[in-house]
Amino acid sequence: LQEDPTFWREHNVQVVIRLRPINSLEASTQGFNRCVKQESAHCISWVGHPESRFTFDHVASEYITQEKLFTVAGLPMVENCMAGYNSCMFCYGQTGSGKTHTMLGDIVDLDHWPSHDRGMTPRVFEHLFAKIHLDEEHRKHENLRYICKCSFLEIYNEQITDLLEPSSTNLPIREDGKKGVYVENLSEVEVESVQDVVHLLLLGAMNRKVAATNLNGESSRSHSVFTCIIQSKWECESVTNTRFGRLNLVDLAGSERQKLSGAEGDRLKEAANINKSLSTLGLVIMILVDVANGKQRHVPYRDSKLTFLLQDSLGGNSKTTMIANISPSICCALETLSTLKFAQRAK
Ligand code: ADP
Ligand code: MG
Repeated sequence: LQEDPTFWREHNVQVVIRLRPINSLEASTQGFNRCVKQESAHCISWVGHPESRFTFDHVASEYITQEKLFTVAGLPMVENCMAGYNSCMFCYGQTGSGKTHTMLGDIVDLDHWPSHDRGMTPRVFEHLFAKIHLDEEHRKHENLRYICKCSFLEIYNEQITDLLEPSSTNLPIREDGKKGVYVENLSEVEVESVQDVVHLLLLGAMNRKVAATNLNGESSRSHSVFTCIIQSKWECESVTNTRFGRLNLVDLAGSERQKLSGAEGDRLKEAANINKSLSTLGLVIMILVDVANGKQRHVPYRDSKLTFLLQDSLGGNSKTTMIANISPSICCALETLSTLKFAQRAK
């Protein structure tokens, strides 16, 4: 669908809605009654009162495979990254809507790799490494070499923890003219294959669970950010050239409203902070739409850890893909409407 190469030149933000199948819990309480109706590959209606229609770059039905979704949402991201643009992919939606399924999918069964249901992150790296190998082969005469370094962190309660080294917590974000925005003391691991990446994903996912348990929380209240810095080096007329590209894959905290009523102390602060990172992200993306349309506006990147961290990968020449995950069940009508509205603001 979006294989038109001019597409990204016009739109730096791509928004995809993904429905998931109605699950057995929903079916047992509300049957197969739905709160949305898919009108086309671009249009979806919310069927409550008042009925509202929304248009997006793509609306993926509950039957879309991970493979097909990748061709729509992931492939353009890799192409952009190889072309030297920083890219971000986000999954947004309420807890249980399918964010982790979309970003990671089935990565557990390494014995039967590649698993059929693996999600966007492993697929992005499969494609990335394939492109890298081809490119290195084609440009051997220039001594072209790529170096990929990954990091994996979690933002919980506006605090950054290294998911590859969980004893490193409360890490500060720094800004440097040369390095751009970076997290101090965050571990970076060089990767050369999809297996290397999957290994880091599994390690990070395990640490994310442990961290949530220790804090008496749930991983659904944290944002996880997997970043790969892709450095390319080549020689041209005896000068060495270097280029950096940054790829960010973000599994956001559940977008459901955090219950403020009755929460006190740390719980209250935490609830407010989670809302803050998500609402700042929404605001930043919305303001960037104005900026792209030529308006002069201040972008409040520094208002949350998440947006500050991603400052170099949101806006400017960067490409952003937002996948908004929704449940079509009537049980989730209000959260689904709120997700559709959030996603709409990015357009
Ligand atoms: P979230 O990360 O948004 O909280 P999950 O990705 O964990 O949600 O999904 C919740 C459950 O629904 C999981 O058991 C997951 O396997 C299942 N699920 C989500 N999306 C799909 C889908 N498109 N097809 C099949 N199962 C799905
Ligand atoms: Mg999840």
